[in-house]
Amino acid sequence: MTSPEELSPIVPLLLRWFDGSQRILPWRDSPTPYRVWVSEIMLQQTRVSAAIPYFHRFLQALPTVEALACAPDDRLNKLWEGLGYYSRVRNMKKAAQVIVEQYGGVFPSTPEELRRLPGIGEYTAGSVASIAFGRQVPCVDGNVLRVFARLLDSPLDIASPAVKKQFTALAAALVPAGRPGDFNQSLMELGAIVCLPNGEPLCGQCPLQGLCRGYQAGTAASLPVKAPKKPRMIEERTVLLCRSPQGVLLTRRPASGILAGLWEYPCLSGQASPEEATLWLREQGLFPLSLKSAGRAKHIFTHREWHMTGYLAEVAGGPAPQGFIWATPEQLLERYAIPGAYKYYSALLKQPPLE
Ligand code: SF4
Repeated sequence: MTSPEELSPIVPLLLRWFDGSQRILPWRDSPTPYRVWVSEIMLQQTRVSAAIPYFHRFLQALPTVEALACAPDDRLNKLWEGLGYYSRVRNMKKAAQVIVEQYGGVFPSTPEELRRLPGIGEYTAGSVASIAFGRQVPCVDGNVLRVFARLLDSPLDIASPAVKKQFTALAAALVPAGRPGDFNQSLMELGAIVCLPNGEPLCGQCPLQGLCRGYQAGTAASLPVKAPKKPRMIEERTVLLCRSPQGVLLTRRPASGILAGLWEYPCLSGQASPEEATLWLREQGLFPLSLKSAGRAKHIFTHREWHMTGYLAEVAGGPAPQGFIWATPEQLLERYAIPGAYKYYSALLKQPPLE
């Protein structure tokens, strides 16, 4: 393992590079704790380009921590619709409530206090503390781990907690007192736009090329070493897009587990035949007028995959079965958040009903 002294020349190089090459991102102008926090939570598992419109919409709807603390859950889910990992936004609301109730609406500034808030781990605490409050603490994400692995030509598995701890200690020793937030962002930025994941890093554009052992050894593109992932669980399900003159049939998912509390179309487990789908509709007291295949779709979560078979059913009007509601097109647009896992089927529903 390299000592921080050996790596210290990277600090001025990175800061100079960051000053000239950083991307213009909406959360970088006016980096208040609230804006930094919202952006960091959104950027977990989401690409920058995808997060930007969500960031603007979220800040416009909920401009303060107080507004977030009292936002209804359905509104939050709707603002988060398509970003996935909805527990992130549920935890944000809980954290906002703690900030309002225990800190009078003022964000705590130390990493220790920040880490006690729901949904804030070591990385996010370091990010908010260093960027918004100028605290001399590190924040180490996957980008930073990759940069260090290549810079040091390290064969260690960066998914291992022990390796992460080592690299975090190294980063902590490097963070300069004067510009902690900029230094942390420069490392992450370098990983995001130069020291790219999954393939050839752009070493010709890198300010650290002269110090990089991975570049010198010709190993950079094959680093970091990652342990093979476990195969995902495959779940077959049948999605029923059931439409009547009153709207589209929806039900709420359970309050815990995957996509907790969100709305979804009725689903049957397994790959149901048209006859089985029709039977299910009749059992709910619905009268199918037509049933057509809506095709197959797939959604990949972190640990599982949904392989879906869809049917589009036009049914006669009437009361919604117990546990279901009819959602009008306006309500689908404004009120009920449907998970991105159903994106393919949601797009089909925007087409006019069958004659
Ligand atoms: S020289 Fe290449 S491998 Fe090394 S840090 Fe820069 S981009 Fe990454």
